[in-house]
Amino acid sequence: MHVRKGDTVVVIAGKEKGKRGRVLRVLSGKGRVVVERISMIKRHTKPTQRNPRGGILEKEGSLEASNLALWCGKCGAGRRCRVDIKEGRKKRRVCVKCGSVIESA
Ligand SMILES: [Zn+2]
Repeated sequence: MHVRKGDTVVVIAGKEKGKRGRVLRVLSGKGRVVVERISMIKRHTKPTQRNPRGGILEKEGSLEASNLALWCGKCGAGRRCRVDIKEGRKKRRVCVKCGSVIESA
């Protein structure tokens, strides 16, 4: 998986194309990612103790990880990144275009 929780990503394919958001959850087993305010789905819920009124609840649905690109602040665009391994250092993710390091949250 090329994205991690806390990353800023851009949707590059599908009906939410062009939207940007923060990764809330990575469902690595399914290859899907939940991104803040993207791919909202409506759930019709029955009243519960937590939500005594029930009704329609909006929540984030998951997106295919391959439809997402990491956001590069320097390019101002969604970019592919490569993993740069420096000796004695942690793996870093680097923008393929401008070479700037994309920090993990
Ligand atoms: Zn870049």
